[in-house]
Amino acid sequence: MGVLVMKGRDNLRNHMVYADNAATTKMSPAAIKAMLPYMETIWGNPSSLYGAGQRAAEALQSARERIAACFGASAGEIYFTSGGSEADNQAIISAAKIGERKGKKHIISSAFEHHAVLHTLKKLEKAGFEIELLDVHENGLIHPSQVADAIREDTCLVTIMYANNEIGSIQPIVEIGAICKEKGVLFHTDAVQAAGHLPIHVVEQNIDMLSLSAHKFHGPKGIGVLYARKGIPLTNIIEGGAQERGKRGGTENVPAILGMATALEEACAHMEENTKMVLKLRNRLIEGLSKIPHSVLNGDLEKRLPGNVNFCFEGIEGESLLLLLDDKGICASSGSACTSGSLDPSHVLLAIGRPHEVAHGSLRLSLCEENTEEEVEYILQSVPDIVEYLRGISPLWKDKVKGKRAFLLPE
Ligand SMILES: *Cc1c(COP(=O)(O)O)cnc(C)c1O
Repeated sequence: MGVLVMKGRDNLRNHMVYADNAATTKMSPAAIKAMLPYMETIWGNPSSLYGAGQRAAEALQSARERIAACFGASAGEIYFTSGGSEADNQAIISAAKIGERKGKKHIISSAFEHHAVLHTLKKLEKAGFEIELLDVHENGLIHPSQVADAIREDTCLVTIMYANNEIGSIQPIVEIGAICKEKGVLFHTDAVQAAGHLPIHVVEQNIDMLSLSAHKFHGPKGIGVLYARKGIPLTNIIEGGAQERGKRGGTENVPAILGMATALEEACAHMEENTKMVLKLRNRLIEGLSKIPHSVLNGDLEKRLPGNVNFCFEGIEGESLLLLLDDKGICASSGSACTSGSLDPSHVLLAIGRPHEVAHGSLRLSLCEENTEEEVEYILQSVPDIVEYLRGISPLWKDKVKGKRAFLLPE
């Protein structure tokens, strides 16, 4: 790829600039430290009756209480899972089973959910459920009235994500929760991008079920939580022992659970100051990248996760942009995930109405409180050059410049 690659990394900056915190986060030192005793000394099985097991069981219970306290739940409403995906699967399947027993087989969701939700719904559709995916507005928001209008007598579940993982838009969860409560329909929210980043209170926000994942808030990977309001009978996804009050078999991942509790407490305790710092960096990035001609910001500017930046640049491929950014030491993501060799553009960008061609040229930068102003300036030096370079070698772009094809995004 010519000149840009030859230039290589800036000598001043040969460390990694990590701007992909929506994909995963670096573990916090406190969370790592919290895990160690449960690998080194208190490594018993919490189901064992002797002291060494019981000490692990007590730690588990305290983690359950600490986690519940972070979002207004009680310990008995917390179910540990292997992560956000499993929590989403279990929440949706449980609500479907509850509905089925009452002859209610209509489920409302949205077109831009995470695949853990969409693929579970697809499976239920094959099993005879009717799945209604609400349209998402161009700004990445769903209006509560869309939910109200869609609810029917036979609706058993509304599942709408708290904040979108690609474009960062924050949904009107309180309002949607209130509508569901009034109509007696279960409400689940995939809060994987929100937990630890936005204030959550399951009672005040009328949330019946909620999914979260530790590795999105500086905790360990492979551990998450399904919150289910007291009285909601869950369906097992993993059959086995009587762990998690019989709702999730398998010996508990005690170290990871303790790491998750510490990471969540830490994230919630520092939420305000972290948000302030990250917002400043994010807004600088948005301001700088907006200057690139024929570009568009995806997702609402106001109702947006503090760390999320997502742009489409006309005339380029997201993958090429990512490779050239990687060459400069910048870790970012593009919506157009190259799944199984096919270059499908992001379902999220298509859901907000971006044409295929535009959706292909997307870039997501997701920041955290550890990013610096210097890093943001470095990104702002790098991205416009790479976009210009990629446009320069694109036959499609040349046609547009010559007027043979129309531009899809304004200058
Ligand atoms: C990351 C993510 C998930 C999946 O969580 P895992 O713990 O990786 O399984 C689900 N939903 C959203 C919105 C996510 O960002």
